[in-house]
Formats: sequence, structure tokens, C-alpha cells
Amino acid sequence: MQNPTRRAPEVSGPDALGWLHTARFLTTSPDLQHLPPPGPPELAFVGRSNAGKSTCINTLTQHRRLAFASRTPGRTQDINLFALGRQGQTDALLADLPGYGYAAVPKTAKVRWQQVMANYLVQRPGLSGLVVLCDARHGLTELDHALLDLMAPRVAQGMPFVLALTKADKLSRAEGQRALSIAKLNCGGGDAMLFSATRGVGVEALAQRLWQWSRAARPAEPASHEVA
Ligand code: GDP
Repeated sequence: MQNPTRRAPEVSGPDALGWLHTARFLTTSPDLQHLPPPGPPELAFVGRSNAGKSTCINTLTQHRRLAFASRTPGRTQDINLFALGRQGQTDALLADLPGYGYAAVPKTAKVRWQQVMANYLVQRPGLSGLVVLCDARHGLTELDHALLDLMAPRVAQGMPFVLALTKADKLSRAEGQRALSIAKLNCGGGDAMLFSATRGVGVEALAQRLWQWSRAARPAEPASHEVA
């Protein structure tokens, strides 16, 4: 959980991206019970199917296929965790949560996915930041609002989140600014930003934010003279 009294140090965009480039697959789990016990800070990605979540994760980590694209919905119904940091020294995890609202899925499966996602978001200790992805052209949908309502208690306790308005390259500059203003008004307690994987919009800024969330969530490191 975020420690609101701690200010994370600054990091450059390239350094933050370098850190994300260390991402490697850790584990996949169909539910909360089978996840590893909480350890390093977890930074989660959620969004409607097709919002651009896999593309966003793959762009941030500069891996072509770390997260699976939504054309294979059967593979996106689990929680996937990726480890970050030098080998043997995981300092944060990325959590790719099941996409919601995928039309071509039977209702029972849909309900199960949503339950898995909701359980993770509400109950998982160590969740230290949330990226909600939403297509910039469509803005927040009813399901996105339901998700933000679900998160409201944790956000009120200081958990940071950002709404990433994806595929911003499909909007003109003016349309993008308008979508951003509306999103900022509607994302109660969080922040919003424009993001485009194809044009590189917001990529460094989001990487910096993830790095800062992970650092702010870690217990303070002792000053060097205090080392036992
Ligand atoms: P997911 O279901 O949320 O994981 O969505 P995907 O990452 O699979 O993306 C859904 C579709 O949107 C794919 O066809 C992507 O190529 C496309 N897409 C994702 N990000 C961008 C972007 O920044 N710009 C554009 N133009 N298309 C994108």
C-alpha cells in the first residue's frame, strides 16, 4: 500500500523505461487464492477488452508479446504477474488483470472474470497503484465507472491510480484535450493522461509514474551509515 508521507525520488523517462524493460513473466493464476503471497509492490493494469491493455504493457516493457492480445480471450481470463528489477532482486510486480466487457464470452465466464478482477482490486495486499485503460474515443463506460466505484475506498486511503486514455493517435489534438478534460473530471481521486502506443504519447510519463509508485510503496531504506 502507498505510504502517502513518502515522496519518491525523481526518475528520468529513459531510466523508468529501462527498469520496465526488465519485466519477465512470473506466474499466472485463475484466482486470488493461487497467487504468490504478497511481496513487492504490485502495479495493476485493468480495462475493457480491446482498450489497449496488452499493447500498453508490451510498449512499456518493450517486449513484443509479454502480455497477450485480446484476440485470444481464453488466455486473458487469468491474473498474470510480471517481475521487475534485476534478476534475483524483484522490486515490483506488474499485474495484468482480466479484461472486462468482452462481448463474445458466455455470461457465466464474464461474471467469473469480473469477480476475479474485483477480488484482486479490493483484497490484494500490496496493490500499490492502478492503471485503468480506456479508449480515448469512447471515454469511461458504465463498466469503467463500476470499477472506479469499487476502487473508491482504496483510493480514499491513498492508493494512486491513473486513467490512461489509449489510442490517442486516433483523435485530433483538440479532441484529445477535450477527452482528457472530461476524464479528469470523471476519474474521482485519480489522474488522467493521454496514451498512444503507436505514437509514443504518454509512454515515458506512465513509466515514470509506475516507477514512482513502486518506490513510494517500499519501506524506507536505511541510510548507509545505519546498515548493521
Ligand atoms: P486489450 O484487449 O485491452 O489487451 O487490447 P489490445 O492491446 O489487444 O488492443 C486492441 C486493439 O487496439 C488492437 O488491434 C491494437 O492494435 C489496437 N491498439 C492498441 N493500442 C493502440 C494505439 O495506441 N493506437 C492504435 N491506433 N491502436 C492501438
